[in-house]
Amino acid sequence: MEVKNVKGTKDVFGDEVEYVEYIESAMKSIASVFNFEQLRIPVLEHSEVFVRGVGEGSDVVRKEMYTFDDKGGRSLTLRPEFTAGIIRSIVQNKMYATMDLPIKKYYLGPVFRYERPQLGRYRQFNQFGVELVGVKNILNEIDVIRLGYTILRTLGLDDVKILINTLGDEESRNAYKVALKEYFKDHIEHMCPDCKSRYEVNPLRILDCKVKEDREIIKDCPKISSYLSQESNERFDKVLKYLDALNIPYEIDDNLVRGLDYYSETVFEFHYTSKKGINYGAIGAGGHYDKLVSEFGGPQLDGVGFSFGVERVLSVLTDDGFNSKLIGPIDVYVLPLDEGVVPVAYQALPILQAFGYRCEINLDGTKLGTQIKKAVKHNARFAVIIGEDEVLKQCLVLKNLETGEQQEISVEDFFSRPDAYLDAHEHECHCGSHDDCDCDGDCDCDCDCEEDDHHCCCHHHKEEN
Ligand code: AMP
Repeated sequence: MEVKNVKGTKDVFGDEVEYVEYIESAMKSIASVFNFEQLRIPVLEHSEVFVRGVGEGSDVVRKEMYTFDDKGGRSLTLRPEFTAGIIRSIVQNKMYATMDLPIKKYYLGPVFRYERPQLGRYRQFNQFGVELVGVKNILNEIDVIRLGYTILRTLGLDDVKILINTLGDEESRNAYKVALKEYFKDHIEHMCPDCKSRYEVNPLRILDCKVKEDREIIKDCPKISSYLSQESNERFDKVLKYLDALNIPYEIDDNLVRGLDYYSETVFEFHYTSKKGINYGAIGAGGHYDKLVSEFGGPQLDGVGFSFGVERVLSVLTDDGFNSKLIGPIDVYVLPLDEGVVPVAYQALPILQAFGYRCEINLDGTKLGTQIKKAVKHNARFAVIIGEDEVLKQCLVLKNLETGEQQEISVEDFFSRPDAYLDAHEHECHCGSHDDCDCDGDCDCDCDCEEDDHHCCCHHHKEEN
């Protein structure tokens, strides 16, 4: 029997591994610039964590969890999302007592949902997200949205659309649910089975239905804005004003309710249509919650968070033509010209790697031209060519594969300061005092940066060099 992967899961290999790693490391490093720290929690939790945390009324808990009894008869679940587990961990470890508030954590890892696999929808996928617990001010909430937006922009997604809505406080939601029930009362009989059960359990979730005929009915239903308490109304206004002040674009979507029951007040989603015109659904989503920490036995603390689907971010970036420059190409491809020089050529690898250069050696035993072609195909920046002549002369040939220039360099010189040869013109200026200046730190540019160690990198200087 041919053994295949489980439906809704996928293997990641080849270039995709690099892309995923790039995405994940960008997400992690930007979160840490925003002063979030990683929290690692188990994949396995007691089922109760999600039943209590995500809510019995949610589709996730009702239909999508991978739940089983272990050999000791405990009901365990493979996490279908992170937030409930993160809050469980914060409460269990009493982080609110030992750490300054707000607690700022990010997470990354696989989650499991028994959903119907389709475009952008898997049964095992990865989420990267953050939780900020102990919200002190609406600015904390804005900062979380800004972090999500910054991550996507940094990854090169310029036209990110943020959909935002408020679910109001409990009082507002209860009033709204009554109004929704009244409105759908005459329609529900003709709506899909999911809507029928949502009508009973949580009519808010009907707004999330994707069935075309149902959407026609939903279109004219009452809007939450008419049922908001004054406090919730003012709160939402403030959120929008801050977003405006920070030039973070958004669209209010009064049908946005989110599928997880813990949200209250602000909810939001990040959307992006790839340049091929494909929309994979929300690439990230989140919101504010106020009962989750106390639900797990902690104090009353508000929190806010979001979660990105790593595979969806990968899909839109791949569609747009993943910028391989972002990944960082192979810095040096070492090309030994015959088998006898392989041991000598091989010595270059540990030296270059110790300097942090990404290297590869060609062990195919092919002709120089073929080896160069392979190095170019792999986007290598430089080739280090070593043949018998070079070994005798204790030198090597360094070929810049972008410009075609090549030079003979003594092995001793190259190995003692490879950066002097490989990084010329590559430095970026971080001094911030000259937008239009673009040379490397050693050139005679007349920028007025006063920092001693600045590296300047403008293109017009590059031409002069
Ligand atoms: P949620 O935890 O439902 O708020 O989802 C957060 C993000 O996870 C979504 O915006 C998607 O990007 C991603 N996501 C949710 N479900 C799936 C799935 N079945 N397959 C892939 N990504 C998903």
